[in-house]
Amino acid sequence: MVTTHNLGFPRIGRNRELKFALEKYWKGELSEQALLDTANTLRMQHWQDQSQLDWIPAGDFSLYDHVLDTSFMLGNVPERVAALAGGELDSYFRVARGRSPADKSACGCVHAGEMTKWFDTNYHYIVPEFDKNTKFSLKASRLLEQIQQAKQVNHSVKPIILGPVTYLWLGKSKDGTDKLQLLDDLLSVYAQLLHELKNAGIEWVQIDEPILVTELTEAWKHALRKAYYQLQAAPVNLLLATYFGQLQDNLQLACELPVNGLHLDSVAAKNEVATVIDWLPSHKILSLGVINGRNIWKTDLTATLDWLEPIHARLTDRLWLAPSCSLLHVPVDLNNERKLPRDIYSWLAFAVQKLQEVTVLAKALNQGRDCVSEILQENNAAIASRQQSERVHQITVTARVRDITDAMGTRQSLYHQRAMVQRKKFQLPLFPTTTIGSFPQTQNIRQVRRDFRAGKLSEHEYRQSMQKEIELCVREQEALGLDVLVHGEPERNDMVEYFGEQLAGYAFTEYGWVQSYGSRCVKPPIIYGDVAHLQPITTEWIRYAQSLTNKPMKGMLTGPVTMLNWSFVRDDQPRADTCMQLALAIRDEVLALEHAGIAIIQIDEAALREGLPLRKSQWDTYLDWAIRAFRITANGVKDDTQIHTHMCYSEFNDIMTAIARMDADVITIETSRSNMELLDAFDQFQYPNEIGPGVYDIHSPNIPSVDSIIELMKKAAQRIPAERLWVNPDCGLKTRNWEEVRPALRNMIAASRYLSSHLSTTQVS
Ligand code: GLN
Ligand code: ZN
Repeated sequence: MVTTHNLGFPRIGRNRELKFALEKYWKGELSEQALLDTANTLRMQHWQDQSQLDWIPAGDFSLYDHVLDTSFMLGNVPERVAALAGGELDSYFRVARGRSPADKSACGCVHAGEMTKWFDTNYHYIVPEFDKNTKFSLKASRLLEQIQQAKQVNHSVKPIILGPVTYLWLGKSKDGTDKLQLLDDLLSVYAQLLHELKNAGIEWVQIDEPILVTELTEAWKHALRKAYYQLQAAPVNLLLATYFGQLQDNLQLACELPVNGLHLDSVAAKNEVATVIDWLPSHKILSLGVINGRNIWKTDLTATLDWLEPIHARLTDRLWLAPSCSLLHVPVDLNNERKLPRDIYSWLAFAVQKLQEVTVLAKALNQGRDCVSEILQENNAAIASRQQSERVHQITVTARVRDITDAMGTRQSLYHQRAMVQRKKFQLPLFPTTTIGSFPQTQNIRQVRRDFRAGKLSEHEYRQSMQKEIELCVREQEALGLDVLVHGEPERNDMVEYFGEQLAGYAFTEYGWVQSYGSRCVKPPIIYGDVAHLQPITTEWIRYAQSLTNKPMKGMLTGPVTMLNWSFVRDDQPRADTCMQLALAIRDEVLALEHAGIAIIQIDEAALREGLPLRKSQWDTYLDWAIRAFRITANGVKDDTQIHTHMCYSEFNDIMTAIARMDADVITIETSRSNMELLDAFDQFQYPNEIGPGVYDIHSPNIPSVDSIIELMKKAAQRIPAERLWVNPDCGLKTRNWEEVRPALRNMIAASRYLSSHLSTTQVS
């Protein structure tokens, strides 16, 4: 018999119940007990949703983040928090977000743990902190309670824990201590934990070591061996889980580690399954992650069965089936969606539907396809409808992509020639000031957008309200004295959704929320078909904004790579092909803006870095098509049109040459938090064009002083010629309010004026 299980279920709830409970609790509007009750109800519901599986997961639920939960379970709580008053939950939220509801003062009492992306997903975890004094001690009560709860509802429970080696790998050594030196101490706590789980009646434990799909040094491979040779004495069965990629040179290691079973992401690593079966010792079970846990498409069940049946014949009871990874990365339940076109709806599967697919596959293998023939037929029909749909395939789009030439991605002249033309045209001062695009999204702006969506405002009324907002924003910027203005983006709910809604090939859900971090969720749009530009999207807004001022108005667009990386992407063609379609669509918008007389156009590529593959050996391939896509989008303009791009991450030293190849006239980046350390890269690599290193952190309500900005810019001017420097915040201002934005920008502009009068282009102090 094939066994079914799951690697994790979304926590946030069908209607984001967890999000709302958390946010109320943080504001002091909900008691701790009420928060825990909500969490409890959600877990019960989620176990119910998974009850058809042979094993249901426990320990995957979290109030904020499962890596942070692991830190607490291992007694690894930062000292700055451990010393403060309050209960465990207070400490937990202090690490998560710098404060707990017990902290009344507005200034956070401690700095929060660093947050970073979970492998190549859009989920963010709280980075474990280590130093030479780190000592681990077991506090497993949270996990044990969840196991008890799950058992009470009569389920067979398989706890999920993060493996010790991946835990160390994900963390950061604060004082340069070698993290692997902590392994011995850590392993003794894991051994204790496994004993406790045994005592709680547990038979199987899933232990996640996703680092097995990354490039590992000998030291880390050795750590994996050491860990699992020691833990094999544990009185429970271990299912070692890997996901998000292929094992490649770690394949043999993964097969040989002395555990009782191995889970392989057989969506990402389908080509390795045969080799794994050959290598895997015959006493081990093999769990195949056959349903894509990262995407929202229905699985082709018949094709999957064709592939699985011979594997099943060979492995028999040793075969387990599951989604490829935790379902954390997909929305909860498709049944909530009421507004999707019927055919598109029939092509999709969210978490609940994906588990049904796992169950159907297992049933077909265990009892023959006949007993699920109706479901298979329905599935076949949906798959065929998608393959043949006229909505999906547009010959004109594929033909346009085929006809792309390098010339389309190449500016008419080189940067220094363009710069001369542009300087003459714009007559900007030295150290010109600008912003990244959005201005405060006030209550009023949100209300107007909501009312328009709800049909309470006519198109005309809506436009008038938004024009008023744009005018206010332009007047504020003029009063402040900024050099290059923006319209403020009041009409945009989200930088991807806004454009997606007006392009062909995109669909939108009502409840397709996915956790990004803590209580924050995103609702990625779905690219289901060939993408095309239908009509100008932004020209009217930007032209209106330009009509209000003599200063240059910057047109604001989202770039193709970011559109791709923040959407659910079709799986029936390579991502690179979809990206090229997006590139052509946004190119049309760039040219429409230029045609409408807009001379400065910013194309945001906030998410370009996020798309980097987990293995460095694959970076070049990604960067090649990603940069090509940007060039196709941006570089069809005339020399006197100035192209800006913006990226919001502070780490780009390792992709600097690729970024230079984009050939944007100006790039604005996040640097303020790293105290311009980012610019160290410029010592080795001469960035050829203009750059605006963000001079203050928009994520914080603090107002930067004039001096701090001057200091940062001086650092920048030591590496980049002053005539190529811009002064700007490090990202959009939409989450701030005007009371914060005005003084911050006033100081920024004062700093720029000081710099332009005190620093000549040749002399750098
Ligand atoms: N133009 C966008 C804004 O200002 C950029 C947002 C981003 O980089 N994430 O909001
Ligand atoms: Zn940004």
